[in-house]
Amino acid sequence: MTSRAVPRRLQLSIIPVGAFDLEVAALTPGDRSGRRTAAPVYAYLVDTPQGLLLFDTGCSRTLMADPRRILGAGMAALTPMMDASRDYITERLQAMGVDPAAVAMVATSHLHFDHAGANADPAWAGATFLVQRAEWEAVRKAPHQYPDPGLAPPAGARLQLLDGDTEVAPSVTLVSTPGHTPGHQSLMVRFERGGGVFITSDAVYTRAHYDPGHVGAAVDPQQSAQSVARIQALCQEYGLVPFFSHDPHQAADEGWQMAPYAYAAHPFPTSS
Ligand SMILES: [Zn+2]
Repeated sequence: MTSRAVPRRLQLSIIPVGAFDLEVAALTPGDRSGRRTAAPVYAYLVDTPQGLLLFDTGCSRTLMADPRRILGAGMAALTPMMDASRDYITERLQAMGVDPAAVAMVATSHLHFDHAGANADPAWAGATFLVQRAEWEAVRKAPHQYPDPGLAPPAGARLQLLDGDTEVAPSVTLVSTPGHTPGHQSLMVRFERGGGVFITSDAVYTRAHYDPGHVGAAVDPQQSAQSVARIQALCQEYGLVPFFSHDPHQAADEGWQMAPYAYAAHPFPTSS
């Protein structure tokens, strides 16, 4: 077996960690319909030969219990539909039969409260955190855009700052996709028998945003459009199916299965 062979045990689970009841306008700037929608929030677990990789941690317990304390009045329209006893990431992992302390790597797409809110949980004290350097520095430069105090790794954890694309395990790559935030990254998982899944995180909110001409909220819309174009090119090149961060309809429409189901050699949705 060469070092380029894809490991047999590579697996990916999609973990729902609650939803936000929000105005469509929160996902699509300029929308004036006034409609509301339930936008899901996800974390992802990848079983790799290098150990368990958790991509994003969802919201903090504090936000789930007292959202105004974290989000303030300015974001009051974002109403969390979350029950910490069920939706908090460590509860979800335990329900899957996974010991949270067994997670070896915690990768963060970006440091917004719905993706990195549970980063500070002491369960990850033995883990290595993988964050783009540009994102880590963005928090220092614009702290008001990162309201949750629980974004930094817990005491004992190791923080590894990344500069661009990084293969964290064979066939598992963190892909630099800036624009939504300065150091946003996505997750590319390729499977042994071909194909795989591209976890966009907030580089692409919903299918409607899977278009360089219609990107979602972004600190740099032009950079965001370039990232969407790059994701499309990678999906084409490797035969990957994209999974979007907050699409209210994608999982049901395309038949995606949620944790504890694990995608690997099994068939997965092919509509794209
Ligand atoms: Zn988000």
